[in-house]
Amino acid sequence: MGRNIFFQWLKSRKCNSKNYNMAKVRGAVVVDKEGCKGCGVCVEACPQGVLELNKEVNSRGYHYSYMKSPEACTGCSNCGVVCPDTCLTIYRVKVLE
Ligand code: SF4
Ligand code: SF4
Repeated sequence: MGRNIFFQWLKSRKCNSKNYNMAKVRGAVVVDKEGCKGCGVCVEACPQGVLELNKEVNSRGYHYSYMKSPEACTGCSNCGVVCPDTCLTIYRVKVLE
């Protein structure tokens, strides 16, 4: 394929919201409830304010973390990176809008 023909082909593939479904990434966090010591570091680290410490306690007496606003999670993984006990598993899924 010649160079000009290639660029013409590329332009013809230009994304158009009328004929493309836009994909958005959403995240989901699974908390190891029994492993959590309720330090709150993940709550502070989340830029979306998704996480909160539960009023309930786990078997060790700690207020474990949970997703208070799951719809706001972007799957950025900040919470998982800062958790000192690796209690958080982050999943990312593409959703069509
Ligand atoms: S993955 Fe990111 S947005 Fe989702 S809860 Fe963790 S820090 Fe917040
Ligand atoms: S950072 Fe880890 S141990 Fe601390 S509250 Fe969050 S999940 Fe629990």
